Amino acid sequence: MSYLEIKDLRVKIEEKKILRGLNLNIPKGEVHAIMGPNGSGKSTLSKVLSGHDDYEVTSGSALLDGDEILGMEPDEISRLGLFLAFQYPLEVPGVSIANFIRAALQGRLTGNETVDAVGYYKDLYASMDELGIDRKFTSRCVNEGFSGGEKKRCEILQMAMLKPKYCILDETDSGLDIDALKIVAKGVNQMRNPDRGILVITHYQRLLEYIVPDKVHVMWEGRIAHSGGKELALELEAKGYDWVREELVA
Ligand code: ADP
Ligand code: MG
Repeated sequence: MSYLEIKDLRVKIEEKKILRGLNLNIPKGEVHAIMGPNGSGKSTLSKVLSGHDDYEVTSGSALLDGDEILGMEPDEISRLGLFLAFQYPLEVPGVSIANFIRAALQGRLTGNETVDAVGYYKDLYASMDELGIDRKFTSRCVNEGFSGGEKKRCEILQMAMLKPKYCILDETDSGLDIDALKIVAKGVNQMRNPDRGILVITHYQRLLEYIVPDKVHVMWEGRIAHSGGKELALELEAKGYDWVREELVA
């Protein structure tokens, strides 16, 4: 049961059908990528899985190691072990990065346990150093006034600290220059392990040169229309997405 397993997911917003029977299975230990044109529903999928309440789920299920997460609150889903790095990370004024991540870790403890401050800062600084984030950022408010690249690195920092069972990265590459992209990719690659499943959502093949996926899926009009190995990303880059539609119509 070590899967993030999505079955026949149908989602609409304001009467508009966005996800139309999506099936996807991400086993622990694997990195999967979803590619697809703008508007195909990629961000909707990641938001629905993280418990965003703008969307109406009309059918289907999403099981995290056997537990149904559809209908759960975002913090419950997070505590179960799903982490979402947003395409457009929100600013959290008034809350420092250090306090934000510490509160998230504290939320995962039970009873009277508290996060050990010394150990916490040691881990935090080690992760920041690895991700090339200046230690001065510790006391800066989450994403406030950050550049695009700094926001994305901050997301990866949260992911590294929370050690989730499953990670979804929604267009983490958008707006990154090549150096920032390499740092983000390195951070994600360090998170790869047999006890973690990772889903990377991207519009471009470039990110997948650095985070080489086990499987690639093509999203088309709210469904996974095609799946393959890592070579599928290159094929999409070369041929565009139109052939997926032609194949579906044929
Ligand atoms: P992608 O991430 O693949 O570009 P999205 O999931 O962002 O696609 O969007 C899929 C479709 O759903 C688009 O047509 C978009 O306009 C629509 N959509 C997404 N979120 C909303 C929303 N909050 N309100 C209305 N329409 C939305
Ligand atoms: Mg999107």
